[in-house]
Amino acid sequence: MSSVVSAVPAASQIPEVNKDPVSCIPWPIPPPNPGLDIKYNKIFISNEWVDACDGEEIDDVNPATEKVITKVAYGKQADVDRAVAAASKAFQPSSKWRRMDASDRGVLINKLADLIDANKCYLACLESLDCGKPYTHSFFMDTGVSKILRYYAGWTDKMHGKTLPVDGDYLSYTLVQPVGVCGLILPWNVPLISLCMKIGPALCCGNTVVIKPNEQTPLSALFIASLAKEAGFPEGVFNVVPGGPEAGAAMASHSGINKISFTGSIAVGRKIEESSAKTNLKRLTLELSGNCPNIVFADADLDYAVENAHQAVFMNQGQLCTAGGRTFVQEDIYDEFVAKSVARAARRIVADPFQLHSEQGPQISQKHLDSILGYVKSGIEEGAKLECGGSRHGNTGYYMQPTVFSNVTDTMRIAKEEIFGPVQCIFKFKTVEEVIQRANNTEYGLAAGIFTKDVSVALEMAKALESGTVWVNCYNAFAVQSPFGGLKMSGKGKEMGEESLREFSDIKTVTLKLPQIQNISISTGSTVQYSTPKVSPN
Ligand code: NAD
Repeated sequence: MSSVVSAVPAASQIPEVNKDPVSCIPWPIPPPNPGLDIKYNKIFISNEWVDACDGEEIDDVNPATEKVITKVAYGKQADVDRAVAAASKAFQPSSKWRRMDASDRGVLINKLADLIDANKCYLACLESLDCGKPYTHSFFMDTGVSKILRYYAGWTDKMHGKTLPVDGDYLSYTLVQPVGVCGLILPWNVPLISLCMKIGPALCCGNTVVIKPNEQTPLSALFIASLAKEAGFPEGVFNVVPGGPEAGAAMASHSGINKISFTGSIAVGRKIEESSAKTNLKRLTLELSGNCPNIVFADADLDYAVENAHQAVFMNQGQLCTAGGRTFVQEDIYDEFVAKSVARAARRIVADPFQLHSEQGPQISQKHLDSILGYVKSGIEEGAKLECGGSRHGNTGYYMQPTVFSNVTDTMRIAKEEIFGPVQCIFKFKTVEEVIQRANNTEYGLAAGIFTKDVSVALEMAKALESGTVWVNCYNAFAVQSPFGGLKMSGKGKEMGEESLREFSDIKTVTLKLPQIQNISISTGSTVQYSTPKVSPN
């Protein structure tokens, strides 16, 4: 997600320089506050904070300490109903939001982006506390989302229909209109980024939204709700219902919701598709799982490829849908590549997310850590060579050792399924044809990487790989201007870029019968004279 990353600020812009307590390196960014005040933990409907209808709350846990950060309201069907009612009211044709000039919608979205920038340090701390991401990562990557909002703020008054040259005496044109109430369901691995990838285009097009963050990471969405109110979004435009599967299912089957944009697992994506089919055939954008191939040819710059392949897997604790978990390496450089990758993984610093030198924080939960350890066990049992790591790191917090497997074959479970953790599986290949076939031999199709100096190989591979995104000599190089989304079972529809606007808008055709005009004659001068319109005999 490099291009939503802000540039490192100039020294003069850094308000305060402290030292990291462990490494003693001066902070190049505002120092974090791990003990920050949690300001919002309720449901946000019509610009008001409310408890869940049944009063239920759940513990929100810090994965680095296993301690409860705060209790958060746990919404369900009745709360979704309330939020949808508010969003529907705000979408009425006479509402302030619907009557607002498109350019003023852009002003509001830009104000929200300004407020995100003004609260960047707080938001980065919140995301690190809730998800376990290193603070430097949250600061430079996750809170770079204001760029996404600014991109869509600029689009509000640039979406327009066409005038159509239809046959006959008609004027026919199209209007680009909002879809209505949109349900936005978020994952836990990139909650803030996923939120902004959805609200940017949804609000740009003039929709109203009901957001359901993942039950494990609701805090950034709740804080953004407070900023949306401060920015001046009218009541009911922006609603957040923290909750779990029940609230998500209530949204997927809700007849008041016209569109769902979902990011998460294939299993839940399938359920949403089913619910939608059984109810009101919602428009769906599904951003689902991946198990992405990253292919390194023998002519690639070896050290560069090793570092990029390492980051492709281990970034965000290995919890990225685009993680390049299947690293294919050409046989001539295989042994050297494995040795260098193992050395790099062994150097990776697993530490408290609030320490400057931390490269890897904890996994999101004990359950998820257990699932990753289960994959490691199956890899060993199926004959892959465990080169390093493979166990829990420390006793407190859900930390995992950076793990590398070599001699991985295509039929192993670690090759076929999304591990979603810091585990690199290194495969050996010989030819271009072979690696294309093996890389595509999966139900997933989210992203792929290629490292080579041969442009013709890169171009050929980019066409042949069955994935929504292909990176050449780079990885995870996201840009808000470029559409992102999976092929095959990795999803449907696109986020980001102009393409995402189509996911949140409908085209309406308007056709007017024109009076029929006969005998057009031009008099002297420039005055045009028409005869009386012919009355149709029918
Ligand atoms: P998940 O599918 O378990 O949960 C996602 C969201 O769906 C959560 O908010 C959850 O509460 C909700 N949910 C659960 N059951 C539901 C139901 N029956 N109906 C409606 N909503 C329901 O996924 P996760 O564990 O939060 O996220 C990890 C997964 O997300 C990984 O597989 C990862 O690859 C994928 N992901 C994909 C992308 C992408 O852009 N393609 C990005 C990030 C994560």
